[in-house]
Amino acid sequence: MTLNLWWIRRDLRLNDNPALFNALAQGSSVLPVFILDPRLLAQPAQNRQRFLFSGLRRLDEELRQRGSRLLIRRGLPEEVLPALVAESGASAVFAEEDYTPFAGRRDARLAKEIPLKLVVGVTVHHPSAVIKADGSPYTVFTPFSKAWKALPISRPLPAIPTRFPAAPVLTGETLPETEENPYFPAGEAQAERRLMDFLNSGVFSYADDRNRLDLEGTSRLSPYLRFGMISARRAAALTMEKIQQASDPIARKGAETFLNELIWREFYNAILYHFPHVLKTAFNPALRNIPWRNAPDDLSAWQQGLTGIPVVDACMRQLLEMGWMHNRGRMIVASFLVKDLLINWQEGEAWFFRHLLDGDPAANNGGWQWTAGVGTDAAPYFRIFNPILQSKKFDPQGRFIRRWLPELHQLPDEYLHEPWLLPAEMQRKTGFKPGRDYPLPLVDHAQVKERTLRAYQQSKQAEGT
Ligand code: FAD
Repeated sequence: MTLNLWWIRRDLRLNDNPALFNALAQGSSVLPVFILDPRLLAQPAQNRQRFLFSGLRRLDEELRQRGSRLLIRRGLPEEVLPALVAESGASAVFAEEDYTPFAGRRDARLAKEIPLKLVVGVTVHHPSAVIKADGSPYTVFTPFSKAWKALPISRPLPAIPTRFPAAPVLTGETLPETEENPYFPAGEAQAERRLMDFLNSGVFSYADDRNRLDLEGTSRLSPYLRFGMISARRAAALTMEKIQQASDPIARKGAETFLNELIWREFYNAILYHFPHVLKTAFNPALRNIPWRNAPDDLSAWQQGLTGIPVVDACMRQLLEMGWMHNRGRMIVASFLVKDLLINWQEGEAWFFRHLLDGDPAANNGGWQWTAGVGTDAAPYFRIFNPILQSKKFDPQGRFIRRWLPELHQLPDEYLHEPWLLPAEMQRKTGFKPGRDYPLPLVDHAQVKERTLRAYQQSKQAEGT
């Protein structure tokens, strides 16, 4: 009997899972294992850990229906896995390749000790497959996406058996008890339902609706893609079918735009794979020496949603409550932190990473470097979002603001975006006093713009560009 281990990391699903599929196909039985790595558990990322543990519980339920079960072990994988291979007599360990520098180093060490077989699955295409003709990596999205689209997508894998062959039952740990996130129930079934619901309707109006803060115009699949509860390849392949099936140009544009967003995810994974130093510093060397402000009180106000700019605060409170934030919101709050408050983008990156269910080193870093204007295919640094205009455009009736800032509930619509402008007479009528019932703005957008441009210029001059 040939036993293989399926080492689960970011692939909490049974369908279209190359690590599981190969472990089954190349052996007579499979042992699914998840390792609680103390280095990862020590990270301050409670939301994401809860989501992960719920996802693992769902996965275990699915496995048990197939006569299998999830083995949980605790410790450094570099020690746990060699011991488990010896204990179980496994022939090989199958896992999905993860492109973070941490995972790369860990897996390289392990590959010297055990027969570790890594397969592609976090992304549709391996980052080393989407490269220029001269073999160098892309650093701009549009040509990357063209090259990505020119590659054939392999067919989804055949279904796995409804009963797994018997495997040894080894003793393991139990998962920590955690509560389910009510906004994002974990698991493959939930991910599949969301994907299909979105592809059957929302995707066709995605091009217009995706920027609106007050609508549920996006798929909300990011936490599921983050932990592989849905296959990225399956999501991309089904979206391509929708592009073909679209009945009118608007619907087609919606599906094409959605595919592009999935490719942004691939792009940032490729950037991290080829340029791992981005986790430590700006991609653009000329913008590595910006004289950031050290302003702990402003940073804390931003983190808690108390900046006095309603759209920023609503988004930050959405993050604290849901463990998720709308993409337009992420751009608005990131721009506000970096360009209005002149606080280092890495502070924002760390806060997001702490709270986001979908917190992903590649996409989070890419999003922050893009917004700060210091990254690969970044927004030009001198383009500075006006948060009030953004608010009026993408939350026109202020429904999103009302949802997240109950203290502004009684304000007339026209003052929701700028409550500090509420006239004295209205203050008497509504009983709402700016500065008492809600903070005054931390900064005046028009004034801080100059300060930011000077700081960026200073870094460029220091670099001699
Ligand atoms: P949809 O609009 O439905 O998009 C579908 C999927 O495409 C998403 O689930 C996601 O996997 C991918 N995607 C969409 N936009 C992007 C993008 N710009 N970059 C990379 N992938 C994208 N996304 C993360 O998954 N994890 C992060 O940690 C993360 N941090 C971000 C930080 C900042 C400052 C910014 C500006 C963006 C960040 N994003 C991150 C990208 C994006 O905001 C989220 O993927 C998106 O909001 C998730 O919601 P959705 O699933 O409804 O997205």
